[in-house]
Amino acid sequence: MADYDYDVLIIGSGPGGYVAAIRAAQLGLKTACVEGRETLGGTCLNVGCIPSKAMLHASEYFDAAANGAMAKMGVIVTPKLDLPAMHAQRLDAVKQLTGGIEFLFKKNKVDWLKGYAAFESADTVSVAGKSYRAKNIVVATGSNVTPLPGVTIDQNVVVDSTGALELAKVPKKMVVIGGGVIGLELGSVWRRLGAEVTVVEFLDSLLPGMDMDVRKEAAKIFKKQGMTLKLGTKVTGVAVKGAKATLTLEPAAGGASETLEADCVLVSIGRRPNTDGLALDKAGLAVNARGQIEVDHDLKTAVPGVWAIGDVVPGPMLAHKAEDEGIAVAENIAGQTGIINHAVIPGVVYTWPEIAGVGLTEDQAKERGEIKVGKFPMMANSRAKTNHEPDGFVKIISDAKTDRVLGVWAIASVAGTMIAEACVAMEFGATSEDIAYTCHAHPTHSEAIKEAAMAVTGKPIHI
Ligand code: FAD
Ligand code: NAD
Repeated sequence: MADYDYDVLIIGSGPGGYVAAIRAAQLGLKTACVEGRETLGGTCLNVGCIPSKAMLHASEYFDAAANGAMAKMGVIVTPKLDLPAMHAQRLDAVKQLTGGIEFLFKKNKVDWLKGYAAFESADTVSVAGKSYRAKNIVVATGSNVTPLPGVTIDQNVVVDSTGALELAKVPKKMVVIGGGVIGLELGSVWRRLGAEVTVVEFLDSLLPGMDMDVRKEAAKIFKKQGMTLKLGTKVTGVAVKGAKATLTLEPAAGGASETLEADCVLVSIGRRPNTDGLALDKAGLAVNARGQIEVDHDLKTAVPGVWAIGDVVPGPMLAHKAEDEGIAVAENIAGQTGIINHAVIPGVVYTWPEIAGVGLTEDQAKERGEIKVGKFPMMANSRAKTNHEPDGFVKIISDAKTDRVLGVWAIASVAGTMIAEACVAMEFGATSEDIAYTCHAHPTHSEAIKEAAMAVTGKPIHI
């Protein structure tokens, strides 16, 4: 150690950085984590996964009371919205969870260096005017909102995801630019609380990257819930006057433009890696064309001793992917074999119903060879039917010759929980027959996964 301050210094305390820090300390390495925010936990805990789920969960209750779903089950209530209380429970969840990371840092003897880090050389960073030298440096600086050229986010009329979590009143007309995960989750929150929501999406389908059946079914469900979808349409301008915005929309394929009025505009067209201010060049590092830091399978960058994980490196921008990379990088640094299987990373959209998937889409699988597909509707699942949750399906894609499962896609009230079974199965190289012959508890939504697996060979019981 002699003249090193730390064995490992991690820049950023999101789910990538804080998990890496805790695992490194558990492995006996002297560890520091640099974070410039007031609280630990990164985007995910402060302004991402956690606060959005707090608003989604609370607004789901409101919607169930307001839209007649509760009345259908004999519970008659007229909901009254206390938005400040809804925001307070969101802030409480954030406070408790970010405080929990601070507790875990103390427990594991991880030093929190407060401030923003910049490289001075490949093994030294400066933080709040002090230099720290470390044998290993892990860049886990995450991502931030991609701006829409010419559109200013004022967090009042035109907001990003952070602003959309905190709206002080329910907008009358909300326009969401981008029909991806953030647009649909936060659009759902405000639609449930009473806003008229229009989603403008450049592509012909919502949710790029997901299976096409899922994308089409999701559009039908969101329309049925009252969202207006303008697909194949791009926003070319947003003019704000007082408390109103006027958006200019153009068909993506070209043609006449139209305008749309809104009192709230959410810009959710993607996220980009955080590398500004890091002085990567002083470490001898550069970013790729997408602004990401390239890493090899072991999460090593091109510079020895410098590693990178999470949203700042290529791959899906997801908290659990960042966490798994955090564990793997710490284990690799400690001389162990860190394991992460990038082919089995689930994606979940926490709308109602939830939308989840893992592995290849049907189109991707077809490109690689012959496949078999089994599908089972939630309408025929006894638990979903009993709970008045008829929308959605489970779809399993397997290799036609070996029957090995290549991808699983689901729209169901608890699809995000159900998909874990598919991940375990795929991690163990399961065939659809393995899933079909595994006993699933009755009555559960998960039985739909078993039935979809049975449908791969054409023999489900309940359809
Ligand atoms: P981040 O969480 O972005 O953390 C990086 C940290 O580094 C930040 O705290 C930042 O302040 C700090 N930092 C940056 N530069 C420096 C520097 N120079 N010095 C010191 N500190 C620095 N993912 C899911 O899997 N599930 C979800 O439900 C989900 N919901 C989301 C909802 C929203 C609204 C948003 C915006 C994102 C959501 N995500 C979700 C994505 C998820 O938040 C990210 O994938 C995840 O946080 C990435 O983790 P990370 O550790 O790479 O970076
Ligand atoms: P996204 O990439 O999911 O969706 C952005 C959408 O905007 C795309 O469909 C794109 O075609 C569209 N778009 C781009 N420019 C446009 C324009 N000018 N007009 C109309 N549409 C346009 O991005 P996001 O929703 O901002 O989310 C960012 C990241 O955060 C995602 O990578 C996601 O993985 C992560 N996230 C995950 C979760 C979750 O796991 N539940 C929740 C929120 C965010």
